[in-house]
Order: sequence, then C-alpha cells, then structure tokens
Amino acid sequence: MILGLDYIISSAIIIAFILPFYIYRKKIFKKYYVKNNISYFVHEVTIYLKDKYPKVNFDFSRINSIIRTNSYDQARILILEEMTKQFIELAFEKRTQKNIPKELLWASYEKESIPKNSTPNNLLRRKNFVIKRDNYKCNRCGKSIKIDTSMLLLIKDLDQGGTYHFENLSILCNDCNKIINSQAPEKLIKDLNIFNSMMRRYIK
Ligand SMILES: [Zn+2]
Repeated sequence: MILGLDYIISSAIIIAFILPFYIYRKKIFKKYYVKNNISYFVHEVTIYLKDKYPKVNFDFSRINSIIRTNSYDQARILILEEMTKQFIELAFEKRTQKNIPKELLWASYEKESIPKNSTPNNLLRRKNFVIKRDNYKCNRCGKSIKIDTSMLLLIKDLDQGGTYHFENLSILCNDCNKIINSQAPEKLIKDLNIFNSMMRRYIK
C-alpha cells in the first residue's frame, strides 16, 4: 500500500501539534496538574522545613488525616498550622555552652559578667561573640540567623544565679525566643515567622 500525500501531510501536522506537548510535558504537568496536587505541596513543604529548621524532627505522618478529611485549599492551611504546632512543641533543654578562648576576652570581661542592677553595656559585643561561636544558628531549631534577627538567651536566669559569662549565653531565632518566653505558646501559631513565611510562599 502506498500512502497518499494528503495522509502524510496531515499526519505530519498532527505530530507537529502533539510534539511540543510531549517535549514540555513536565512544565505543563507542573502548571496545570501539580499546582492542585496536595502531595506535591507536602513534598515542597517537607523540603523547605527540613532545610530551614534542621534541628526539628517534623512528623509528616500526622497530616494524613488532614488530607483525607479536608478540601485541597483547607488542607494546605491546616498542614501549615500543624507543622507550626510541631515547631512550637519541640522540646528544648537549656545546656551550658562552650566558653570563648581566654585570649579573645577583654580585661574587664570577668568583672562585667557578674550581673548588677542593670544589664551590662557590652551585651551587643557578647552577642557578636556568641552568634559566631554558635555558627549563626538558632540553638533550639537550627535556623540560620543574623545578629538583628536573633535574641540572646540566658541558659540560667539571673534570679537563679545566672551570669553573663559566655558559658551561660546562647542565641535563639525570634520565633524560638517568643515560644520559650510565652505563657501560652500554643496560641502563637499565627504570630510566628515560620507560619507566615510558609503562608506567603505557598498560599498567597
Ligand atoms: Zn529557632
């Protein structure tokens, strides 16, 4: 059988039309299908959280029932709330920290480390030392921090005999600082950066 020219041309046109869909299938898939696919959303959130908060062991099995019983849009928000809840519930033990080599300390360091009635005026200098010693990571969740997005933490409170020695100082991200100083941390979900950044990134 010899194929007619018409047949060959129309086949070529059809193939030319279909081919781009095949070549760009991944992009098209991502745009029109995956966009509304909850497992893709969970996958993205998992990567994001593990990368950003390396010291938190998020339990993703707890979101299965959320997915089963909610619509796509509701489920996404509930998942972000659940992850934030787990972040709040993370147990935190204050431990004595490493000292700073004596040769790096200044003459009045020892004297100024003993708390008086007011906070020492070189607290920012101490914070700079602590953030470097702790590799710019939050002591509780492991998030990367900068000097202006972090808070100094006293391991042992002053009223319990704590001092400003480096062994008694560590550093926290703003979220962890809010959590450990809150009387009702479970109510903080919507005030925390972790939740609001994920909302901006994945929902809005
Ligand atoms: Zn933190």
